[in-house]
Amino acid sequence: RAKEHGKSRFKVFNQRMHEEALRTLELETDLRKASDSRELFVYYQPIVDLENETIAGFEALLRWKHSRLGFIGPDEFIPLAEDTGLIFSIGRDVLANACADAIRWGQLIASRYGRDARAPHVSVNISGKQLMQPLLIGEVESILEESGLEPGRLKLEITENVLMEHITLAEGMLARLRRIGIGLSMDDFGTGYSSLSYLRQFPIDTIKIDKDFISAAITDKESEAIVSTVVTLGRSLGLDVIAEGVETPEHLALLRMHGCRYAQGYLFSKPVPPAEAEAMLLEGFASLTV
Ligand code: C2E
Ligand code: MG
Ligand code: MG
Ligand code: MG
Repeated sequence: RAKEHGKSRFKVFNQRMHEEALRTLELETDLRKASDSRELFVYYQPIVDLENETIAGFEALLRWKHSRLGFIGPDEFIPLAEDTGLIFSIGRDVLANACADAIRWGQLIASRYGRDARAPHVSVNISGKQLMQPLLIGEVESILEESGLEPGRLKLEITENVLMEHITLAEGMLARLRRIGIGLSMDDFGTGYSSLSYLRQFPIDTIKIDKDFISAAITDKESEAIVSTVVTLGRSLGLDVIAEGVETPEHLALLRMHGCRYAQGYLFSKPVPPAEAEAMLLEGFASLTV
C-alpha cells in the first residue's frame, strides 16, 4: 500500500510540475510579444514625505495584462524576463517611460505651484541581470539625455539580495551610476543577509525597509527594534529611509513615533496608472487616504 501511495503521489507531483513548466514556457513565449502589443505598462505608487506631507516621488511598478490570463505579477514574470534576456529591452522601456513621465510631473508642478516648487522623483527597479550589465550605465545616460530629466530626479532601486550576491561587482556599478548623479536605493532591506555595515560600504542614499518588518513591528518587539534601529542608523549615515507596505494607521503611527520620514503603501495609495498619478500630484497630499 505504501508503495502504491508513493506512486500516485509521484504522479500528482509530476503532473503539477508538468503544468508549471507548460505555464512558464507559455509565458516566456508571450512575454516576447507583450511589449510590442502594449500588454506591458508602468503603474506608479506615491512615496510620501511624512514631514512635509507631500508626495516626494513615485515608484514605477511594471504591469503585464496578458490577453487571456489577465494580470500577471512582476514577481512571476520578472524572473522569466531575466532568464530569457528580455529584461534588457523591457528594463530600458520602463526607464524611458518613467523618465518621460517624471518630466511631465515637473511641468505640472511648475505650472501649478511655480518654477521653484520641488518636482517629485521617479524610482525604477533594477534587477540583478541589469545591474551586472555594464551597458546599463550608457543606457541610463542616454535616456536621461533624451528625456531631459535632471539626474537627481531619477532613483534606481536594487534589492539587498542582489547587492549581496555580487558585492564587488555591484559596488563598482553603483559607484559608476552614482557619478551620473542619480539616486540609489537599497530595496527590501532586512530580507537579505547583509550586515548593517554594508549600508556604509555601498554608495547608496536611500534604504527601503521591507514591508514584512512594518507589519510585524505592530506585534513583535524585535521587528519594531529593527525598524527603529534602521531609522536611527539611516539618520546618522545621512541616508533617507522609506518604510514599504504601510497599510494601516497603526503602521503610520509607529513609523512617526520612530521618526521615519518617508512611507509608501496601500494606506496612501496602491500603484495607479500614469493619469491617476498626475491627478494625485495636482491634488496633493490631502487627497491620499490618510
Ligand atoms: P518592490 O520593488 O519591493 O515593490 C513593492 C511591492 O509591494 C509592489 O509589488 C507593490 O505593489 C507592493 N506594495 C505596495 N504597497 C503595499 C502595501 O501596502 N502592502 C502590500 N502587501 N504590498 C504593497 P509589485 O508591483 O507586485 O512588484 C513586486 C516586485 O517586482 C517589486 O518589489 C520589484 O522587485 C519587482 N518589479 C516591479 N516592477 C519592476 C520593474 O520594472 N523592473 C524590475 N526589474 N523589477 C520590477
Ligand atoms: Mg522597489
Ligand atoms: Mg521593496
Ligand atoms: Mg520586493
